[in-house]
Amino acid sequence: MTVPLPCYDVAIIGAGVNGAGIARDAALRGLRVIVLDKNDMCSGTSAVSSRLIHGGLRYLEYGEIPLVYESLHERRCLRRIAAHLVKPIRINIPIFSGARRGLLLIRLGMIAYDLLSFRKSLPGHEMLDREQIMNDEPGLRDDGLLGATRYFDAQITFAERLVLENLLAARSAGAEIKTYCEVREIRACDRAVDTVVFVDREGAESEIAVKSVVNAAGPWVDKVLKTAPRRAKRFIGGTKGSHIVVGRFTGAPKGAFYVEAAADGRPFFIIPWNSQLLIGTTDIRYEESLDNIRASRAEVDYLVAETNRVFPNANLRIDDIHFAYAGVRPLPYREKGPESAITRRHIIKSNRKIAKGLISIIGGKLTTYRNLAEQTVDRLAKVLHRKLPECRTRDTLLPGAWGVDRARERLKVSELLTEEGTARLLSIYGGRAASIVEMAADDPALQVSLDGNGNYLAAEVVFSIREEFATTLTDIVFRRMMIGLDADQGRSLYDAVASAAAAEFGWEAAQQKREFQLLVDYADSLRVT
Ligand SMILES: Cc1cc2nc3c(=O)[nH]c(=O)nc-3n(C[C@H](O)[C@H](O)[C@H](O)COP(=O)(O)OP(=O)(O)OC[C@H]3O[C@@H](n4cnc5c(N)ncnc54)[C@H](O)[C@@H]3O)c2cc1C
Repeated sequence: MTVPLPCYDVAIIGAGVNGAGIARDAALRGLRVIVLDKNDMCSGTSAVSSRLIHGGLRYLEYGEIPLVYESLHERRCLRRIAAHLVKPIRINIPIFSGARRGLLLIRLGMIAYDLLSFRKSLPGHEMLDREQIMNDEPGLRDDGLLGATRYFDAQITFAERLVLENLLAARSAGAEIKTYCEVREIRACDRAVDTVVFVDREGAESEIAVKSVVNAAGPWVDKVLKTAPRRAKRFIGGTKGSHIVVGRFTGAPKGAFYVEAAADGRPFFIIPWNSQLLIGTTDIRYEESLDNIRASRAEVDYLVAETNRVFPNANLRIDDIHFAYAGVRPLPYREKGPESAITRRHIIKSNRKIAKGLISIIGGKLTTYRNLAEQTVDRLAKVLHRKLPECRTRDTLLPGAWGVDRARERLKVSELLTEEGTARLLSIYGGRAASIVEMAADDPALQVSLDGNGNYLAAEVVFSIREEFATTLTDIVFRRMMIGLDADQGRSLYDAVASAAAAEFGWEAAQQKREFQLLVDYADSLRVT
């Protein structure tokens, strides 16, 4: 007797922000969903962005008005449904004589940006003369400075948590989430998708029956399409972007800066982030391997030199860099033209010529993932010939956005954490922080402080394993507890995290050692030498 395969309305390939967003929307609308990622969730492009939830001021230069409008609308929405993660940020644009974008152009751009963000939830722009900006930001280069404009956008310190919370919401609505499961084949029957084959971390192969497939593999979209029964043309023409993370240098800015680089006229950001400064990005056509993408020395030198030019007392050197990260934007393939001119709009591509029921996601931004997901699920309804309920993601809060005040109270009463530790936990988990101390309340082993000072609890490690699909130390450190993005990459806590994880997983000493080494190797790979 043949055992029937587990059957899903949709298999979503990729647990980046787009796959996670689609999973949440589809599950909330009653579809039977499975998400497969070859790695951990949010281990691709979604973890290497500038971490801004922004209207995309620069897209105005390329006439992408609908994209700016959509982004500003989504920014407002994310500030509501993920208020614990998405915070306003004030950005300065200094204007220097001889720059490509002069005072008038920038002023006009800002007026258009304000108009497009009508029904404002953030204040509009203001113009500052030379003296005003120098008073506020005395570390800024004054040579050739004409003035500045200042505007508001939004920042998400940990995009990883946004992706995770979408997956948690999807799971609560019935979706199955499988990390470390690589899709190796998409099969079709009568020219319609019917089976997805994937391999797990131990090399075991599984098959599932599917009625549709969403290929949300980011820059790997073309690679995934190669596993489908018919040849596809090229869809993705990725560009690489790198960031460096440094400590607050002498004369470091209080606010964020958006500055035109002297070398090539590209604007780049210097952003206060996670008690450090995040500086980036570059934008370079990229044809090399998509796995283990690293910032090149030339990109790092460019970002260091441009920062030293704008903040002359910074004197940044390579040794000052805490870590760097890089990724590839999954942009639509264009043979020619400048990188910055490639549209940043997303395309929901039906691949019915390859197999009916197959859809690929091309492009997309963190900022607009929710709308992209809504449009994709609307498309799925047509593919599946199903009348689905209305999308609910616009107004339904993400899991951590509920009960933040109650969680604050709960943490205070528990007396398990310092004030600093409490603030940290709330900023990462929002209202879900309460569940961590509740878990600890029942088990003294989970009340152990990882740093000995009451700032981190062993319960957090166990929570990430039991509740947040973490399976490796790197998942826990870099994409759940977020300590991997601290100045020391969280290294002082690695031993304590590994012990707590080993107890939960039941690892033998040899396995704990292996997992520990993988964590250290990963952290080292982000170092700049
Ligand atoms: C340098 C840079 C800066 C950016 N800054 C911003 C910003 O400030 N604001 C903003 O809104 N946007 C920004 N973006 C854009 C945004 O980050 C991306 O467009 C978005 O994260 C893409 O998400 P995704 O889910 O499509 O892809 P990804 O996050 O790459 O997810 C794809 C997933 O698919 C998985 N996968 C691949 N192949 C397979 C397979 N065979 N089987 C199973 N799983 C597979 C991968 O492991 C990966 O997890 C930036 C992008 C870059 C590169």
